[in-house]
Amino acid sequence: MKELSLTIRKQKNIALIAHDGKKKELIDWCMQHKEILSKHFLCGTGTTARMITEATDLPVKGFNSGPLGGDQQIGARIVEGKIDIVIFFSDPLTAQPHDPDVKALLRIAQVYDIPIANNRSTADFLITSPYMDQEYTHKVINFQENIRERAEKLK
Ligand code: PGA
Repeated sequence: MKELSLTIRKQKNIALIAHDGKKKELIDWCMQHKEILSKHFLCGTGTTARMITEATDLPVKGFNSGPLGGDQQIGARIVEGKIDIVIFFSDPLTAQPHDPDVKALLRIAQVYDIPIANNRSTADFLITSPYMDQEYTHKVINFQENIRERAEKLK
């Protein structure tokens, strides 16, 4: 399959999401890394975004609440190249009504080679990576080519 080089810029678009049982932990993590986070563009699912802004004063653009489609909005923005990193503190011990949306987000992040942290230690490694301060070029599937090839093959 043909690939395309995409560059993640120095100033990154970071999406922040936490399930209810993990919201306090994500807020605490944002406090811990406030200085680094303040250099980037932040967004998140509705409740998480609002709670982070209230607790830290960091500007976080809020989408819909996760169970009401917020995870899907973030997934769509990954597809559009508008989100570079996802910090997603999911709760592995509680059933989620929007589990299919959560899976879809993880899958689309994988398809587009987007760094995604599911727990605090991964988020710590990610946020302190030298790449946070640099451009980073990665390869993704060339989607135009993919459509062209499929349309040809399936005739
Ligand atoms: P919330 O959504 O930030 O609106 O609570 C998070 C989620 O459960 O996906």
